[in-house]
Formats: sequence, structure tokens, C-alpha cells
Amino acid sequence: MARYTDPVCRLCRRRGEKLFLKGTRCNTPKCAIARRAYAPGQHGQGRRTKLSNYGLQLKEKQKAKWIYGVLEKQFRRYFKIASKTKGVTGKVLLQLLERRLDNVLYRLGVGVSRAQSRQIVRHNFVYVNSRRVNIPSYSVKTNDVIQLKPKEKPEKKLRENLELSRDRSVPSWLEFNVQELKARVVRLPEKEDIGQPIQEQLIVELYSK
Ligand code: SF4
Repeated sequence: MARYTDPVCRLCRRRGEKLFLKGTRCNTPKCAIARRAYAPGQHGQGRRTKLSNYGLQLKEKQKAKWIYGVLEKQFRRYFKIASKTKGVTGKVLLQLLERRLDNVLYRLGVGVSRAQSRQIVRHNFVYVNSRRVNIPSYSVKTNDVIQLKPKEKPEKKLRENLELSRDRSVPSWLEFNVQELKARVVRLPEKEDIGQPIQEQLIVELYSK
């Protein structure tokens, strides 16, 4: 499945804010935003022009895509599903992104970043309701039980990750037994459960044109 493979710090610099795409490194002085808080490229330090409404909407969409590591085609598909689902489209869209299995592992602290969580899913360690799932975009639902069954060496790495992610608390829509590496989806996530502020209304406006 396609994914973004270029340097991710450029995305934060382009956006002008920390998107926390590199896990633990993001909170150190090595963070590219801390060192070079201007857009990448030859003209990155030039004067910033005021964005049009369209520009703002586009930027918000890019931000959501970058945070969740989703490419345009898949993001558009999420929007299509959200617009056909009962409820507020923007809220359903965020919920769909948040329910991705790679994001769930990131929220649990099993992966230090969503990119790493994606790899963990691909490596066949993850079982949902006793069935192995290696699709990062798998959408969890209420009462799903997520069990990690790594071999000895990867388990050590996962436990190290959990230690590194200790300052990120597990959101209340998930329940996690760290000893057993077993989690349960208590309820579907709400907007308040999403740490990073995304103005989903701007995304809805963009796609509704
Ligand atoms: Fe963004 Fe993290 Fe890179 Fe900093 S270190 S620029 S927050 S991805």
C-alpha cells in the first residue's frame, strides 16, 4: 500500500508547526522545527503571504493527511464514507482516521510514531478478536479486542517503546493491559480524544466545493 516516504520533518516545517511525526525525537532539540522554524527550500525564509480561504482549507486537509500518514486517494475515500454516514461529516471523518489500527497502536504507546505503529501491524504481531490483522488501515470498532503477540526480540522493543511513550496517556476510548499487551476499544473516539487540533470543518468545506 502506498505511503509517504520523503523526509517527514519537511512537512512540519512546511506547515509551520510540530506534527509529531517522528515520535520521541519530536520532543528533543533535534526537532527540525526547533532548529529551523521556517519553510523548507530556497525561498523558505522569504516573506509569507496571507493565505486565501481555499489555501487555509487545503492546508488543513494536508495537516490531517500528514498526521495520520494517509495519501490523497485514501483520504478522499474516508471523506466519501463520512459524507454518506449518519452524523456530522467532519466528526465522522476524524473518527475514521482515529480508528485506524496503526493509530490505535500509536495511541496505546506500542509504537512511538504512527509510522512505526504501521510497521508493527505489517509485521504480523497484531490480532483483532483473535484473528491476525496486518492491514494498518483496519478500522476498529467498539468492543474489539486487540492483542499483540510478538516474538521475544520484538517484544523487548515494544516494551521499550511503551516506556518511551509513558508521558502520552492512553485515551479513555481505549483500555490497555500493558502486562498482557491486550487492549479493548471501549467506545468510538470523540473529537476531544484527538490530541492535535484539526479544524475538520475546513476540510469538509474544501471537499464540498
Ligand atoms: Fe516534526 Fe517531529 Fe520532525 Fe520536529 S522532529 S519537525 S515535530 S517530525
